[in-house]
Amino acid sequence: MEQLINFPHRTLRIDSTGLPLEWIDFREAAKLYSVGDVIYTLGDHLYTIKGGVNAKSGLRSEININSIVATRGRSKHFQQKLAKFTPPLSNQTLFKRDDHLCLYCGSQYSKRELTRDHVTPISRGGQDIWQNVVSACKRCNNLKGGKTPEESSMGLLAIPFAPSYAEYILLQGRNILADQMKFLLNHIPKSSPIIERIQSKDKVSTRLKN
Ligand SMILES: [Zn+2]
Repeated sequence: MEQLINFPHRTLRIDSTGLPLEWIDFREAAKLYSVGDVIYTLGDHLYTIKGGVNAKSGLRSEININSIVATRGRSKHFQQKLAKFTPPLSNQTLFKRDDHLCLYCGSQYSKRELTRDHVTPISRGGQDIWQNVVSACKRCNNLKGGKTPEESSMGLLAIPFAPSYAEYILLQGRNILADQMKFLLNHIPKSSPIIERIQSKDKVSTRLKN
């Protein structure tokens, strides 16, 4: 099969009720199609995968992969679990949550220049959880040291929060296509800071284009 590099986009897998589940590459998507697990598709056609030649018919099989595929249903129990889901905390997702901004000085940095800052330091009883961590540049993190924001007089530009399941999938996406983005945004409350950050970015890029 061809190299992954020719397939820069991933397919968004959703359940039968339309709940976003995960990103899958073209190989995983092709497998779902071939075993008949895809019950409906949304979005645009993404890739055509050529399979083997059928010995009887002499025809080469072909699988058309869409940007969004729905697979067989999940139980209600699973959906209830998702509602209480807390994504694993990693620096990569944390920096994406905060749009690579230092939440103290407000400047944007590359992931190498950012650190995970504990708002209430671990040494002061703070926890290593989404609600107590923010992206911070090295300089601000050093300045703050082992102090709380009040003690260091360094205010936070936004309140840290744990992403919901749909927000987490959005944050994990790379090269998200417009139809996938539209679908995911329907599962995220308009008040989500993540939506605000995406929209302000859209405004900036539209401004730059004009
Ligand atoms: Zn900073």
